[in-house]
Amino acid sequence: MTKRVVLIGHPVAHSLSGPMLQAAFDARGIDARHELLDVSVPKLPAAIEDLRGDDYLGAQVTIPHKERVVPLVDRMTEEAHATGAVNTITKEGKRLVGHNTDVPGFRAALDRLVGRQKMPKQAVILGAGGGARAVVFGLITEGFQRVVVFNRHLHRAEGLVKHFGRSASHMELRAMPWHESIIESELSKTKVLINATSIGLRRDESPIAAEIIPPGLLVMDLIYNPPQSRFLRDAKAAGADGLENGLVMLLNQGTAQFELWTGQPAPIDLMRERLDAALAARESSADDAAADAADAAQRVASE
Ligand code: NDP
Repeated sequence: MTKRVVLIGHPVAHSLSGPMLQAAFDARGIDARHELLDVSVPKLPAAIEDLRGDDYLGAQVTIPHKERVVPLVDRMTEEAHATGAVNTITKEGKRLVGHNTDVPGFRAALDRLVGRQKMPKQAVILGAGGGARAVVFGLITEGFQRVVVFNRHLHRAEGLVKHFGRSASHMELRAMPWHESIIESELSKTKVLINATSIGLRRDESPIAAEIIPPGLLVMDLIYNPPQSRFLRDAKAAGADGLENGLVMLLNQGTAQFELWTGQPAPIDLMRERLDAALAARESSADDAAADAADAAQRVASE
């Protein structure tokens, strides 16, 4: 029987996981099919319950469900416990196991961002959702000494800080209200700036004003589609020391997922290739759509 692996999120259309994972299943001779499942918040418990069926190999969980899935699985791994967020579900018979492969994915992206420089100790994080939790856990375990989390709804950032209370007891982890002057002041004291909000995913917008980004920062956007978000373009124009989008994180969280579901080593080069190809195809169809819109506008103007 062909097994199903579903990506559960809302929205899911932006995701590039499908081509990357399907290529890996096919290359390793695994009879599995990747599907996108757009699931709204009220329908999440039923969608997770369905995974107990024999036809499922497992699932990916994405925006905005990573924290909501926690009480719906039967067991969680150490990293899922530590972050309070689940992005991967595997099966033990009918039992569901929650994992968090965003953590190793983020570590790979951070290593690439920092390169040969000394690992910094201060970071500012924008956002406090499931992705931000993996980022904060990655920074804590990397030895960061001061991490400040800004979020539109302050209580969510405060909840995140409370969650990490014990594992962050040796360092300063703070939640701060989303005020431009406070963000600007914190940016002047930091080396690493990470966008873990979903602002920039659907529209060409940045979570913060370009003017408040100082030069010399190492800047990461968890968003990978588009590959050059406005946030990253603004950071580049401000004179960032390094830039990284979410592609390396996506690739590495995906290779870890593949290994969890199949027990086989992931074909990482092939997965990277498919990811690049899928992204290029998306960009060219976006260009075509923009060209079609321009043509249509010109036709209307000349009629
Ligand atoms: P969640 O839904 O859990 O969190 C969304 C975050 O974005 C919250 O902090 C939310 O703030 C903030 N936000 C959303 N809309 C607005 C807005 N209009 N104004 C201000 N803040 C806003 O999502 P995730 O944490 O799972 O994902 C966040 C982003 O990171 C997504 O773009 C996702 O694609 C990306 N991601 C990429 C990964 C990769 O592998 N590259 C892995 C994980 C995530 P509030 O709490 O106030 O609503």
